[in-house]
Amino acid sequence: MSRPFIAVIGGGAAGSMAAIEIKRRLPHARVAVYEAGRRLLAKVSVTGGGRCNLTNSFSGVSSMEQVYPRGARLMKRLFRQFSHTDAYAWFEREGVQLVTQDDQCVFPRSQNAMEIVDTLMGLLRRLDVEIATGCRMDGLMPVSGGGYRIHFAAGTEVLADVVVVTTGGSPKDAGLDMFRRLSLAVEPPVPSLFSLCLPGHPLTGLMGTVVADTAVSIPGTRYRACGPLLVTHWGLSGPAMLKLSSHAARLLHERAYRTPVIVNWMGGVSEEAVADELSRLAASHPHKLVHSIFPLCFNSRLWAYFLQQARIAPETRWNGLDRKSLNRLVALLTGQQLQVDGKNRFKEEFVTCGGVALSNVDSSTLECRRLPGLYFAGEVLDVDAVTGGFNLQAAWTMGYVVGRSVGERG
Ligand SMILES: Cc1cc2nc3c(=O)[nH]c(=O)nc-3n(C[C@H](O)[C@H](O)[C@H](O)COP(=O)(O)OP(=O)(O)OC[C@H]3O[C@@H](n4cnc5c(N)ncnc54)[C@H](O)[C@@H]3O)c2cc1C
Repeated sequence: MSRPFIAVIGGGAAGSMAAIEIKRRLPHARVAVYEAGRRLLAKVSVTGGGRCNLTNSFSGVSSMEQVYPRGARLMKRLFRQFSHTDAYAWFEREGVQLVTQDDQCVFPRSQNAMEIVDTLMGLLRRLDVEIATGCRMDGLMPVSGGGYRIHFAAGTEVLADVVVVTTGGSPKDAGLDMFRRLSLAVEPPVPSLFSLCLPGHPLTGLMGTVVADTAVSIPGTRYRACGPLLVTHWGLSGPAMLKLSSHAARLLHERAYRTPVIVNWMGGVSEEAVADELSRLAASHPHKLVHSIFPLCFNSRLWAYFLQQARIAPETRWNGLDRKSLNRLVALLTGQQLQVDGKNRFKEEFVTCGGVALSNVDSSTLECRRLPGLYFAGEVLDVDAVTGGFNLQAAWTMGYVVGRSVGERG
């Protein structure tokens, strides 16, 4: 190759990182980013509510499976080349000061996603990466003798020696047809990261209530998630519910988002332990109303709801609470079954579960096994994570790895 031409399709997080890292390694190459939208990194500019939760400290993450319901093994492998600490150092080296919150999410100190966008755009420009916006790829064909013919929706075509596909999640199945036409295996896309609806349920009257430590699960399955739970006017949200929606994304889709869920309102603690805690309350405050003395993790409105559900009269005192009522209350606190009907998007944040199957790519280089010179990175692959900066981290890691792999081709 005299002057190789490398086309990056999709100018999001993974595509920008890939283009920068390719051009750094191959300054003589022609590198171009083809973006369907009017500008690059549009999604990054709205991530984290405009603050960009660009990675996570991973402290408290005991396994990749915990945060990457799809693609954990791949991410584990790729982290050897570019991990969260590498991403942290990469952005700081480029002049972005970062801060790690108490919840381990990492943001720019400026709390402004545009700082990340401007940094990446500045690098792309300085490195002389060509940028073409308004170019939606709708087909890709290998050319005999090497390289690819890229077809755009506007009817134009370009020939490239190497193609890096970073088109992000495709909520519509048809968006993946161009990869099926290359005989690549595709996992059908379904949404991930959403809250669940409880239409007409009395709990929704308690909107705004947060319980800091809960465990939610889908009965009869292995799906279970812990963390804060938020009651909204449509149902249940908050980190625990979002994690559950991510891990159980396919099952929930198959069930058309109609399923029972079980909520342990006391952080997954057993019935015996909760019964003990309530007995201690009763012993310390025997003459107080059950209504007025309750575990600190609840607010008075939620507690009143539990008492009503357990058929405990408001005038009951702790020393007057009979064993059956106590058992009903304990059962409710440790395993309330709720019937979900529908889903709701989480503050417009969602990712796609599914995409180009991981079996298509080499797990060290992300090059397509059957089609040399074709690479995939980011959410277009069947990789997605729970909230907390893990999705963008996956994009930086995969973008970097492709940059390095393409760079090593020479
Ligand atoms: C509102 C919102 C907030 C989020 N907040 C966070 C957060 O704080 N932290 C976090 O970790 N994750 C967050 N995410 C998820 C995160 O943004 C994505 O996982 C990440 O951007 C994926 O990177 P990507 O490069 O693979 O895809 P994208 O960033 O989506 O980029 C893909 C690009 O390809 C372009 N494109 C698509 N199809 C074509 C085509 N056929 N031809 C040419 N170009 C094409 C798109 O226009 C887009 O610019 C958020 C998501 C949303 C929607």
